[in-house]
Amino acid sequence: MKILSVNAGSSSLKFTLIELPAKNVIASGLFEKIGLADSCYTIKYNGEKITTNEALPDHSVAVKKLIDALLNMQIISSLEEIEGVGHRMVHGGQEFSKSVILTNEVLDRIAKYNELAPLHNPANIMGVKAFMKVLPNTIQVGVFDTAFHTTMKETEFLYPVPYEWYEKYQVRKYGFHGTSHRYINKTISELLGRNDLKVISCHIGNGGSITAIDSGNVVDTSMGFTPLAGIMMGTRSGDIDASILQYMAKKSSKSLDQLTNELNKESGLLGISGISSDSRDVEEAANNGNEKAILAQEMYARKIANYIAMYNNLLNGADVITLTAGVGENSKTMRKMILDRIASLGVKLDESKNDFRGELRLITTDDSKIPVYVVPTDEELMIAMDTMELALQNR
Ligand code: AMP
Repeated sequence: MKILSVNAGSSSLKFTLIELPAKNVIASGLFEKIGLADSCYTIKYNGEKITTNEALPDHSVAVKKLIDALLNMQIISSLEEIEGVGHRMVHGGQEFSKSVILTNEVLDRIAKYNELAPLHNPANIMGVKAFMKVLPNTIQVGVFDTAFHTTMKETEFLYPVPYEWYEKYQVRKYGFHGTSHRYINKTISELLGRNDLKVISCHIGNGGSITAIDSGNVVDTSMGFTPLAGIMMGTRSGDIDASILQYMAKKSSKSLDQLTNELNKESGLLGISGISSDSRDVEEAANNGNEKAILAQEMYARKIANYIAMYNNLLNGADVITLTAGVGENSKTMRKMILDRIASLGVKLDESKNDFRGELRLITTDDSKIPVYVVPTDEELMIAMDTMELALQNR
C-alpha cells in the first residue's frame, strides 16, 4: 500500500511516499516558496534529485504539480495507487488524543486551536484542503504533535497560575514532538520486547524536548503551552523566568512580540554562542577555543541532563534513555557531554560504542544502571503507519 506522508508549512510542503507495510521510501521531496517569487520543487526518486523552478501560487497548485510529477515520472500509474494521505498537524488541543480521519467538520474543530499554534495549524489545514481538492476520493488522516501527550495528568499539565487561565483560556502544557516520541517509544519497546517500559525519550534537534513515558503513556514532557519551553534549543531559550519579559520590555522598549520572537529565534545555542544555532558550528568553534561556544555547549548539555535527572525521579527510575533527532543521532560529542552529566544516575557511556551517526545502537556499558540507546526517529513513517491503519479500517 502506498501512503503519502505530508508536512505542510505556510510556504512549503514536504512529502514522502512510503510503501507499507514494507516501510520503503519510494520518493520524497519539498515544494518551496509557495505563494512567493522563485518557487521551486525538488523530487528525490531512484537515487536522483530533480529540481524544477515553477510558479507555485498556492498549496493546491503545489499538490497538483506533485501528483502530476508522480504520474509523469511513473512513480505511480494512477491516483488510486495512493491509498491514503497522512498530514502532520501541530496542534489538536486536548481534544485529539489520536490520529483521525479528516473531514471538513474535523478540520473546523482543529481550526479552533489555530490561536494556540498560529504559525503551524492554519498552514497544516491549508495543506489538507489542497489534497482534498486534488485527491477527493483518498482518505486524509491528521496526525497530531500534541496527541501522544494527552495522557499527562493535571499535576503535570497545569501551570501553578490562577485556575481560570486554564478554564477560560486553555493555558496548560500541551507538549510537542509527540509523533517522534511515540515512534521512539514503539521502536525501543519492540527492540526490548516489553510494553511496560519507563522511557526517557530525548528528542534533540534544532528544536528539542524530553519526554517521560511509562508503559506507553506520557507522564510529563519538557515543552509546554508552546514549543518555546523546556530545554535550551538551537534558537529557542527553553525555560526562563516569565518576569524577564516585563523587565526587558521596559528596559529595551521592545514590544512583547519582538521579545518573544527573540526568545524563539535568537536565543538558545545561537544566543549564547553568537555563532550559530547549528551544533556542528558551535562544536567547531568550541574545539577552536571559542569561550562563548564552550559555554553554550556546556549550558545545552546541562539543561538536558537536568531534565533527564528530574524525569528519572518522576518515573521512580527509568528503564531506558533514548537519544534522537539531529543532535542526538549525529553528535557523539554532545552525547558524551550529556551522559557524563548524568553519571550520578549510574549511567556509563562506553566510548568505544559512541563513534557513529544515525543508527539504532546501545552506547552504554553493560554495567550502566540505565542503558542509553540512540534511536533514529522517523515521524514520516509514523504518520504513514497511522494513515495505513485508518485506511485499512475504512476500506
Ligand atoms: P533536526 O531538527 O532534528 O533536523 O536537527 C537539526 C540539527 O541537528 C542541526 O541544527 C544540527 O545542530 C544537528 N546536527 C545534524 N547533523 C549533525 C552532526 N553530524 N553533528 C552534530 N550535529 C548535527
